[in-house]
Amino acid sequence: MPPINRREFVKVLGAGVISSFPFFSAKTVFANAHPHVVIVGGGTGGATAAKYLKLADPNIKVTIVERNEMYHRCYGSNEVLTGHVSMDDITISYDALKNIYGVNFIFGSVVSVEPNAQRIILKDRTKLSYDRLIVSPGIDFIWDNIDGQTEIVANTSIPHA
Ligand SMILES: Cc1cc2nc3c(=O)[nH]c(=O)nc-3n(C[C@H](O)[C@H](O)[C@H](O)COP(=O)(O)OP(=O)(O)OC[C@H]3O[C@@H](n4cnc5c(N)ncnc54)[C@H](O)[C@@H]3O)c2cc1C
Repeated sequence: MPPINRREFVKVLGAGVISSFPFFSAKTVFANAHPHVVIVGGGTGGATAAKYLKLADPNIKVTIVERNEMYHRCYGSNEVLTGHVSMDDITISYDALKNIYGVNFIFGSVVSVEPNAQRIILKDRTKLSYDRLIVSPGIDFIWDNIDGQTEIVANTSIPHA
């Protein structure tokens, strides 16, 4: 078999995932025909999950709870440092997810998850119920784990990247 490059591999994988969609629907996974999936974090992970859930079954109500109204993607950010692209180029709006895929958005910070009650709590004390929850908030740094590193140092003399 001839070697397959990364781009072709991703294409084949994507075709496989999409062709398996007819076997996935809200009815096969949820008791409720119009279940509500809440996703914490509208980064690459959360946004991708939201898009493919809606493609799999538009009856699933999908809500992303995200802190920021625009997403600044990290990949490609090195090119901002070298001046090849601008911050605008790596700033992405949620319009396509909202308008093309029908994903709902709530902009705010999630402060806690109550799994027994199947709901999350936002900083403004709003409660949001879910049938299924995807938690995709990315990573954070534990600065003190590295001798001499602090958030201030990272933001001034030794950038974390
Ligand atoms: C400098 C840098 C360069 C990178 N370059 C590359 C690259 O070239 N190629 C590559 O493949 N990857 C790269 N990566 C990695 C890539 O950016 C991550 O793998 C990817 O962003 C992870 O996606 P995510 O959705 O898990 O998290 P994130 O993209 O971090 O998204 C998490 C989202 O959750 C939101 N959130 C967090 N907590 C809450 C809360 N409590 N309530 C509401 N919202 C919340 C945040 O606002 C954020 O929008 C780079 C990363 C960095 C830091």
